[in-house]
Amino acid sequence: MSTLPPPNPDQEKLLYKLVIQFLIFCQGSHKLLEPHLLQIGKRLKSGAVLTELAPELQAISKTLLHISKQTDLDKKDKDADQQNNYLLQRIDELLANSDVPLRFQQQKTVLRQRVKSNVDDQTFNKVIDSAMALLVDIKDYAVSEQKDIGGFLTQLSTQLGELEQHVEIVGQSSQRSFDQRQNLDLEINQQLGDIKDNTHQADELTTLKTITGDHLDRLMMQLMEHKQQEGERQQQAQQQIALMSEKLQALEIETEALRTKLKIEHDRALRDTLTGLPNRLAYKDRVEMEANRWKRYQAPLSLLVWDIDYFKRINDNYGHKAGDKTLNLVGQLLLNNCRSTDFVARYGGEEFVMLMPNTQTCQTLAMAEKVRDLIEHCGFNYNGDKIDLTISCGISEFTSGDQHDDVFVRADRALYQAKQAGRNRCVVYQNESIPPAV
Ligand code: GH3
Ligand code: MG
Ligand code: MG
Repeated sequence: MSTLPPPNPDQEKLLYKLVIQFLIFCQGSHKLLEPHLLQIGKRLKSGAVLTELAPELQAISKTLLHISKQTDLDKKDKDADQQNNYLLQRIDELLANSDVPLRFQQQKTVLRQRVKSNVDDQTFNKVIDSAMALLVDIKDYAVSEQKDIGGFLTQLSTQLGELEQHVEIVGQSSQRSFDQRQNLDLEINQQLGDIKDNTHQADELTTLKTITGDHLDRLMMQLMEHKQQEGERQQQAQQQIALMSEKLQALEIETEALRTKLKIEHDRALRDTLTGLPNRLAYKDRVEMEANRWKRYQAPLSLLVWDIDYFKRINDNYGHKAGDKTLNLVGQLLLNNCRSTDFVARYGGEEFVMLMPNTQTCQTLAMAEKVRDLIEHCGFNYNGDKIDLTISCGISEFTSGDQHDDVFVRADRALYQAKQAGRNRCVVYQNESIPPAV
C-alpha cells in the first residue's frame, strides 16, 4: 500500500479550512456526532494542528458510516411500512366491496376490524394469512354450493326419468284396455252374428233356445272376464297415478326450496352488506333498465353521483366504526329522501349513485340541494363527539345518443368540480365549463 506524501503548507491550510467548514456544517445534524464535534472544537481552541485531530476525525468518519447504514435501514423499514399499509388498504377495500355469503359475514367483520387496527410487522403476516384463508373458504363454499346445485339437478333428471316411466306404464295400460275393448267388441259382434245365422237356420224353437242360450252364456262369460280385467287394470293405473303424484309433490317441494335459496343468494349478491342498499352490481342492472325506458318514452332521467366530503378524516379521527356508521346514516338519508321510483345504490367506498326518472335537471338540483342541506345539519355524532358531515354531488341528465356510462362520467366530472369549488355543494354538469377529467 503506498502512503500519500505529507501535504505542503498551502494544502494543509486548505484542509484545515475544509475541516472547520465541515464541522460547522455537521453541527446539530445528528446527536451521535455531537460529542466528537465538541471534542474537536476544544482541541482547535487549544491550538491543535490537523495531524493531532486525526483520531477524532477518524471517529467522526466511523460515526458517519454508522449513521448512513442506520438511515438506509430506517428507509427500508419505512418503505416496507408503506407497502404494508397499501396492501392492508386494498384488502379492506376488497372486503368492503365484496358481498360474501351470510355465514362468512362475522369473519369478514372481524377481519376488517383487524385490518383497520394498528397492524405491526408481527401481526401483518397473520392478517394477510387470515384474509387468504377467508378468501379460500369463500371459494370452497361457492364450489360446494355449485356441487349441491349440480347434485340436485342430477337428482331432478333421475326423478323426471322415473316419472316418464310411470307415464309410459299408465299409457301402456290404457292401450291394453283399448285393445281388450276392441277384442270384446269383435267377440260380441261375432256372437251376435252367430245368433243371427243360427236363428235363420233353426227350425225348431227348442233348438233356437239352446243355441241362443249357449251364445248368451258365452257372451256373459266374456263380459265378466273383461270386467275383471278392466277392474285390475284400473287398480294398477290408480296405483301408478298415486305414485306419480307423490313423486311430483316431492319434486315440487325440492324445487321450491332450491328456488328460494337461489333467490336469497341472488338478492344478497345485489345488496351492500354495510348499508343494506343495492350495490354497484344492482346499479348496473337498474341503470340499463332505466336507460332503455328513457330511450323508449323519452321522459327525462337524471343521474347523481354523491361523495362524502373528507371521509378519510372521519376514519382517521374517530375510527373506522365511526366511518361505517357515517356510511350507514348517509345511505339511509339518501334513501329516505327520494321518491319510491328513484333508485339509490352504494357505488363503492363513500360514493353513492342515484337515478331519478321523470325529473328535469332543475327539479333534480332542488331535491339534491335539500338532501345535501339535510346531511349537513343532521347533527351527526359518534359516542357523543359531534362530527362535521357534508357531502358533494354531481348531476347529469340523459341526452340523446347517450350510453349510461357517458352520463355517469359527466356526473362524476360535475362531482369533481363540486369538490374543487370547496365541497358541500351540488353541481350540474355544464358542457363548456368543466375541464376534461385528469
Ligand atoms: P374527498 O372530500 O375528496 O372525497 O375526500 P375523502 O377523504 O372523502 O376521499 P378519499 O378518497 O381520500 O378517502 C376515502 C376513504 O374512504 C378511504 C377509504 O379507506 C375509506 N373507505 C372506503 N370504504 C370504506 C368502508 O366501507 N368503511 C370505512 N369506514 N371507510 C371506507
Ligand atoms: Mg370518493
Ligand atoms: Mg369523499
